[in-house]
Amino acid sequence: MKQLLTLVCKINVKPEQLVKVQETFRTFSDACSYVNQEVPEKLTNEIAMQSLIYQDVRARFGLPSQLAIHAIRRVCSNRKTAKSKGDLLESFAPTSVTYDIRTLSLKGNIASLTLLGGREKFALGLSNYHTGKLSKGKIKGAVFVLHRDGRYTLNIQIETNPDAPEKVNKVLGVDLGRTDIAATSDGESFSGKQITEVRNKYAQVRQSIQKKASKGTRSTRRRARRLLQRLSGKERRFQSHTNHVVSKHLVQLAKTTNRAIALEDLTGIRERNNELPRSKTERRLSNSWAFFQLRQFLIYKAIAASIPLILVNPAYTSQTCHKCNHIHPVRGQSYRNGKRFACGHCGWKGDADYNGAKNIEAIGLNINQPGGSELACSLSDHVLGLLKTPSSYEVG
Ligand SMILES: [Zn+2]
Repeated sequence: MKQLLTLVCKINVKPEQLVKVQETFRTFSDACSYVNQEVPEKLTNEIAMQSLIYQDVRARFGLPSQLAIHAIRRVCSNRKTAKSKGDLLESFAPTSVTYDIRTLSLKGNIASLTLLGGREKFALGLSNYHTGKLSKGKIKGAVFVLHRDGRYTLNIQIETNPDAPEKVNKVLGVDLGRTDIAATSDGESFSGKQITEVRNKYAQVRQSIQKKASKGTRSTRRRARRLLQRLSGKERRFQSHTNHVVSKHLVQLAKTTNRAIALEDLTGIRERNNELPRSKTERRLSNSWAFFQLRQFLIYKAIAASIPLILVNPAYTSQTCHKCNHIHPVRGQSYRNGKRFACGHCGWKGDADYNGAKNIEAIGLNINQPGGSELACSLSDHVLGLLKTPSSYEVG
C-alpha cells in the first residue's frame, strides 16, 4: 500500500537569491490570476485549459514550461475546491510555487529549483526524521511556500511503500472519546482537559475580538481580522501537535507489544452528531476536526508501522458492559453517565471510556481470529476500502 507524506523543510534563501525568488513567486501567481481571468469560468478540465492557454502563458510571462503547466493546474484544482464550497475563485497571492521532479532535484540537503531565469541551489534544514523519510521514499513533488511571517519552507511530497501489516493475535482497543482524547483497553487515558481549556480560552478571546471588530473603524476591523487568523493558526498547531504525540505513543505501544489496533468505525458520525440542536459550546467541542485528525494520524501511522487495523461497528460499544455484556434493558436509558459507567447487572463500575475501549478490544479480537465470522470479513473489506485512498498529512 502506498502512502503520501508531506515533509515541511526549512529552506535557506540567501539575500542575493531573494529578488529572483520573489519574482518567481509573483510571476507564478500573476500567471494563475491571468489564466483564471481568461479561461471560461466553468472550465475545470486541466487538459482543455492547457490547450487553450498554455502558449499564451509561456509567451506573456516567460515562465519555464513546467511552471506554466503547474500554474494552469493550480487554477484547475483551486477552481474545483471553490466550486465544491459554492464559491467563485477570485485571485491568487504570491505565496507558493509548485514543483515536480523535472523542476526540483535533491542531493543531500541541497535542493536545486527552477526559478525565473534559471536554476538556483538552496540549503535545506533537514532533521533526522526528514532524512530517514527521504531515504526511504520517492519524491513526487514539492511546494515552495512563503509564510506570513516571511519564512520560506519547501514542502516535499514523498511516496512511501510500507510493508504489509504483520500477523498478530492480540488487540489494543482504542476509544477516541469526547471528554478524554483517547482511552485504551490497557486502562491508559489521555486527558482532553488541556485541549478543552485551550480551545475555550481561544473561543473567549475570539469572541471579544469579534465584538470589538464589529464596532471599530475600518482599520480596527482589519487588524482584528488579522489577529483572528493568527489565533486560529496557533490553536490548530497546538491541537495537531497533541494529536501527533498521542497517535505516535499508541502506535509505538501496539508495535512493541505486538498488537493490532482496533478503533470504532465512525463513517458518517459527524452528520449524526449534528442532528440534534446543541448549545454553541457543545457544538464547538464535538464538531471537531481535531477528533477526526487524531483518527487519521493514528490510521496513517499504523499503516506506516505495518500494524494491522481493525475498524469495529460502534453500535453499543459505549452502552455495553464489558464484564457481562449487558445493555440497559430500558430503551433510551444507559448504564453510562458521562464519564462514569455503572452496570446494573453485574455491578461493575468504572471509567466509561475504558469500558468502551475494552468492548472495542473484544470485538477486535473476535474479528482478528483466523476464520472469523462473516461480520469480520465484511468489516475487514471495509477497512481495506477505507485505506486504499492514500492519505496525506504534514509533519513539521
Ligand atoms: Zn456488567
